[in-house]
Amino acid sequence: MAQIIDGKNVALQVKLEVKEQVARLKAQRSVIPGLAVVLVGDDPASAVYVRNKQKACDDVGIHSRTFSFSADVEQRELEILIQELNKNPQYNGILVQMPLPKPLDARALLNMIDPDKDVDGLLPVNIGRLAIGEDALYPCTPLGIMVLLQRYSIPVSGAHAVIVGRSNLVGKPLSLMMLAANATVTVCHTRTRDLPDIVHQADILVAAAGRRGIIKGEWIKQGAAVIDVGTNRAENGKLTGDVEFEQAEKRASFITPVPGGVGPMTIAMLMKNTLAATERQIRS
Ligand code: NAP
Repeated sequence: MAQIIDGKNVALQVKLEVKEQVARLKAQRSVIPGLAVVLVGDDPASAVYVRNKQKACDDVGIHSRTFSFSADVEQRELEILIQELNKNPQYNGILVQMPLPKPLDARALLNMIDPDKDVDGLLPVNIGRLAIGEDALYPCTPLGIMVLLQRYSIPVSGAHAVIVGRSNLVGKPLSLMMLAANATVTVCHTRTRDLPDIVHQADILVAAAGRRGIIKGEWIKQGAAVIDVGTNRAENGKLTGDVEFEQAEKRASFITPVPGGVGPMTIAMLMKNTLAATERQIRS
């Protein structure tokens, strides 16, 4: 039976570490890290995500402010805000909550953010730095997965890591991080032939397709580590992953639950990135 990877607990530990470092920065350098969050429209899910991020900031002592706009805001107004935030030393990190309502151009707006304040790690500059192994701000969800593997002492070097999903948010940057950690990486997507066979070769399986239960328990290799990123709503409203949990946990050595696995790590990594961005800005 697999050991359950307790993402909630690891996220709590990471936040405590960030809190200590934030307190040290304040005491030694009189600097309080700051995070600016841009929220547009009234999407209830986005409002919840932003509230959770603000709460995490409060918990660790990071100063945060949400800049809220109605859905009909002009692109230009948001661009002016980003330019101001780029220059404002009170904010070390800038985050635009996605998705943006149409017809706003999200990519154009994101690309205006100073890469050293890009705490979501999604700008081409940061993905490029990651690709060539330079110091960068890394995307929060893949970074959270790497930290989970590290905290549970799951060996990545030399392992065959199979990632199901190739999005810019999760699969693609994770494949670069796994490669940097010396895994042999296979990335699967909707055109992949014989998914069960490839999944069966995985020492580390990361499911990030966003399709409930597409990874069958019997596909999992005995002893594999299974990381389920998927967050899907079942008919009964319950949150479930991409992996058939009950069957998979009988074969895996480690497995993340949904909820309580990868999810809590994402916000913890945002705190870590905001601290890292602040330290980097102090140094430069
Ligand atoms: P996405 O942009 O929709 O990408 C999904 C990827 O999975 C695509 O590359 C797609 O292939 C692939 N895929 C879909 N169905 C597949 C299938 N049947 N077989 C093989 N590959 C398949 O999604 P995302 O943004 O990466 O998110 C993935 C999941 O993670 C979602 O459930 C999302 O809610 C969750 N998520 C959770 C967190 C968290 O903090 N817990 C953070 C981010 C995302 P193609 O490229 O060929 O279309």
